[in-house]
Amino acid sequence: MGEIISGKALSKTIRAEVKTQVEALQAKHGKVPHLVVILVGEDAASESYVKAKGKACAKAGIRSTILKKEETITEDELLKIIQEFNEDPDTHGILVQLPLPKHIDENKVLLAIQKEKDVDGFHPLNVAAVHLGQEAILPATPKGILTMLKSTGVEIKGKKALVIGRSNIVGKPVSMLLLKEHATVTIAHSRTLDMKKEALEADILVAAVGRPNMVTADMVKEGAVVIDVGVNRIEVNGERKLVGDVDFESVKDKASFITPVPGGVGPMTIASLLQNTIECFTMVEKL
Ligand code: NAP
Repeated sequence: MGEIISGKALSKTIRAEVKTQVEALQAKHGKVPHLVVILVGEDAASESYVKAKGKACAKAGIRSTILKKEETITEDELLKIIQEFNEDPDTHGILVQLPLPKHIDENKVLLAIQKEKDVDGFHPLNVAAVHLGQEAILPATPKGILTMLKSTGVEIKGKKALVIGRSNIVGKPVSMLLLKEHATVTIAHSRTLDMKKEALEADILVAAVGRPNMVTADMVKEGAVVIDVGVNRIEVNGERKLVGDVDFESVKDKASFITPVPGGVGPMTIASLLQNTIECFTMVEKL
């Protein structure tokens, strides 16, 4: 059986490191990073993500403000709030929880966040920097995935990587990060003709699709490193269960390393967000 990359354990170590860094910032500069999270509407999943982010900040000693706004807020009102936090010297990171209601242009909102406070790494300038292979605030999920891959000690350079999924928040940025690490990267998506063929060639396989158990053992190369980003809620024998995009039970015997769901990429996303908040603090405070 392959070794399990525990995002739970790794994120615990990172969160402890962040806490120590925050204590050092407090001792040296008399202030701690402050993350503002803006939540629009009543989406249950978004509410639980925001709650988890606030809780993780508190545990790490990071100040957080969660601002809840009605679904009916106008785009202009939201942009004005962002501008106020941009101008506030005591705000270091601004995160607008996605998705937003349909009447609000997500692109306009992400563009409005000051680049240095863009803790999610979704501002077009941060996105561009990732694509150019330059220093940037990395989006939390891809950053967490890279940290997990590096934790295995497996060399990424020269390896064939397959990323299934081409979203702006996971698939595309993770592909760019792997490319920067000198992997030979293939990006697959819903129109890919022969997924099994592509997958069987991959030394590193990242699944970010949102389809329960779509990657099965017959698609995985012996000894591959498998990262499962998927979060899918399914019902098994009347019980609700959280599963990934990878059929963990069968794939674990073929993979050299594999991430579980839950307890894999999810906790690493939050840990990476905390790291980003410190990065933003450093930039905003010009340290
Ligand atoms: P998304 O925006 O819906 O993108 C899904 C991607 O999968 C698209 O590129 C789509 O292709 C592709 N796809 C859909 N069906 C496919 C199929 N049958 N074969 C091959 N590719 C297919 O999703 P996302 O935001 O990237 O998220 C992906 C998954 O990761 C979701 O389960 C999400 O909940 C999870 N996630 C987890 C975390 C975490 O922290 N753990 C963070 C973010 C997301 P097209 O582009 O051709 O439509």
